[in-house]
Amino acid sequence: MVDIIIMNRDASEENVNAVIQKVKALGYDVVVAKGTEKTIIGIIGDTRELSEETFISMPGVIETIGILKGYKLVSREFKSTDTSIYLKNVSIDSKHLVIIAGPCSIESRQQMFATATFIKNCGAKILRGGAYKPRTSPYSFSGLKKEGLEILKEVKQSIDIPIITEVLAPEDVEIVGEVADILQIGARNMYNYPLLEAVGKVKIPVMLKRGFQATISELLSCAEYILKEGNSNVILCERGIRTFDTQFTRNCLDLNAVPVLKKETHLPVFVDPSHGTGKRDLVNPMSKAALAAGADGLIIEVHPEPEKALSDGFQSLTFELFEKLMNEIKPFSALLGRSI
Ligand code: PEP
Ligand code: MN
Repeated sequence: MVDIIIMNRDASEENVNAVIQKVKALGYDVVVAKGTEKTIIGIIGDTRELSEETFISMPGVIETIGILKGYKLVSREFKSTDTSIYLKNVSIDSKHLVIIAGPCSIESRQQMFATATFIKNCGAKILRGGAYKPRTSPYSFSGLKKEGLEILKEVKQSIDIPIITEVLAPEDVEIVGEVADILQIGARNMYNYPLLEAVGKVKIPVMLKRGFQATISELLSCAEYILKEGNSNVILCERGIRTFDTQFTRNCLDLNAVPVLKKETHLPVFVDPSHGTGKRDLVNPMSKAALAAGADGLIIEVHPEPEKALSDGFQSLTFELFEKLMNEIKPFSALLGRSI
């Protein structure tokens, strides 16, 4: 089994191309990562029949690796250095802590303008807000859809802040992608393979949220679907899993996942303490816990009037509580050697 071919940094372009051509001639696709130390060729497809002897004697090849897991492009074996994702004026990387904030759903122009202005002044770098909302009950508010996207477009232009918003279906990727700087795939859609492939075919960064019943390895395999299609700008998000205690929390924020993911994958890892707890007063302590666990950023629900919110009001921070949280996590980020 050969999933990864590692080539010497001195290997010539011809040597690298020869390996790529050989892999392709055998009926596989390749993904190439050129580093300063070595060039790595990832083989896409069912690689169980491939043997080391096929490649090991080719000029420039140092080593071949077989990966028994369900994912390879997302793994540290394929890429040992952290992936950085660049948006206009925002870097998601190991030197920054990126805070994303905004309401669960886009409800009105006024709500989005007020929120965007406030959170930006507090130091948040990206605005969240759903136009297409996946709801547990089909009778709940399911978002303003195209009208919501229009509002996002206006806010983005006049406040100059990048936007993350959810895409629910493959056929909506194009229209949502016209405004989104990051496409959000929600927990309920983590296993939606056609959607994962559709966002894999565009260049826009994607935040993939962990399904509430998904294992960490399933999350990584779902991310692999996106990378396999060519989009390697993927952020993983831990947003809480379902356990037996529903009395005090909506979900159980699995912070074990953060260091596990940081070790297993090169992709940035975010935490959503809003859905992860489901309770406004738990968002502050669990945000700090997430940063201590090694998260690269947070995504937090904030609403100008949470008691009137059309979705997730009980877990949304007021402006006042968001400002307090931002003031409290700034010293944390300094301790961690990251800037907000
Ligand atoms: C959301 O971010 O509002 C949302 C629906 O999140 P999740 O998919 O994690 O439930
Ligand atoms: Mn929500």
